[in-house]
Amino acid sequence: MAKDDNGAKCSFCSRPRREAGKLIAGPGVFICDKCVGLCNEILQVEEKPAAEAVASPDAALKVPKPHEIKEFLDQYVVGQDYAKRVLSVAVHNHYKRLHQEAFFAKDDPYAGVEIEKSNILMIGPTGSGKTLLARTLARCLDVPFSISDATTLTEAGYVGEDVENILLRLIQAANGDVKKAERGIVYVDEIDKIARRTENVSITRDVSGEGVQQALLKILEGTVANVPPQGGRKHPQQEYIKINTEHILFICGGAFVGLDEIVKRRMEKQALGFGAEGLVDRMASQGLAVASEDLLKYGMIPEFIGRLPVMASLEQLTVDDLVRILTEPKNCMVKQYQKLLAMEGVALSFNEGSLQELAKVAHRKKTGARGLRSILEQLMLDVMFEAPRGNGAKQIKVTKAMIEREFAPRSGRNQAA
Ligand code: ADP
Repeated sequence: MAKDDNGAKCSFCSRPRREAGKLIAGPGVFICDKCVGLCNEILQVEEKPAAEAVASPDAALKVPKPHEIKEFLDQYVVGQDYAKRVLSVAVHNHYKRLHQEAFFAKDDPYAGVEIEKSNILMIGPTGSGKTLLARTLARCLDVPFSISDATTLTEAGYVGEDVENILLRLIQAANGDVKKAERGIVYVDEIDKIARRTENVSITRDVSGEGVQQALLKILEGTVANVPPQGGRKHPQQEYIKINTEHILFICGGAFVGLDEIVKRRMEKQALGFGAEGLVDRMASQGLAVASEDLLKYGMIPEFIGRLPVMASLEQLTVDDLVRILTEPKNCMVKQYQKLLAMEGVALSFNEGSLQELAKVAHRKKTGARGLRSILEQLMLDVMFEAPRGNGAKQIKVTKAMIEREFAPRSGRNQAA
């Protein structure tokens, strides 16, 4: 409680102590009973159901435009132009769907048209930027974001996680605010690993992936799900957190190793039908167009494919892309290491040839940009160990020759993981 003396007054409405019923003190501030009441009202208004809260023209203006989303993505993600365009349009439409009441008056003929939810499937090699794209999208929209791994999920009755745990992660990312989580983005990685085993012999799961696909259907489509607050398995005596998944955007990603062969075979068959041998190779060089039937062959069930109507494919990163990844994005790795060493008064530089060589080493590993980090970490280990001693060189220039020495193919000792 505030002291009666020295003119204490409410820091919000300036009412002095004698006029306020009660004055509550915080560190260096006061708030009166009236302002507390007002704050409560504001909070209640904010907790109104989403549809009511967005029914204003302002909400319509807040939906970012596709070119704005893409420009944002360009700051953090190198290349993948096609995937960025697909994602920008899909996300724009998704949030337009959320705000649709703000666009049309109740009697407008469009007011009664339901826009269906468009979850997204991203197909692309490992380390090509799928997770980074999903994460950057969430940052662009300033919504909660979570990542789950499809391989940890199992259908009810088996050891593992229930699919609802995906939603628990999102709620945690929203600091427990379920309403906020209901507008978030969920990235489900390794979705290809829950393909049905019968069609795809390389899958080594001991539990049927098909069951997990079935279990995911409902939350992808939009349902009120019961989420166990402690995670793990659901059990009957538990209290659940209820969350509506209707407005959550699900982005599923996977490498789908072997899918290109399925696409190629289908295209070959079609090309032969037209008597156009050689056409497939020409088309393949321009990127293969994945169709739903290819995913079906791969082992995804038709209902599941149906819930992911937007498909964005990512390309294998080239050596030049990898060089750009090292140097261009806002938080690129080169700048990160330079900053770390600058804290020790050491100036780190890379000559052009060294960056190309680093990118080539990563490219050989076929793990996309993932390899870059471990390669740099290995390269910089000794420097980062010695620099804080303060008695070494103040200028370090990484050259092509240094990289070649450290990462010569089959040199045994120093192969970064
Ligand atoms: P994926 O999900 O496709 O396996 P990630 O998005 O997890 O790959 O990529 C791993 C890391 O590699 C990212 O954190 C990022 O640092 C880097 N990276 C991958 N692709 C790109 C890209 N296109 N542009 C910039 N950085 C990238």
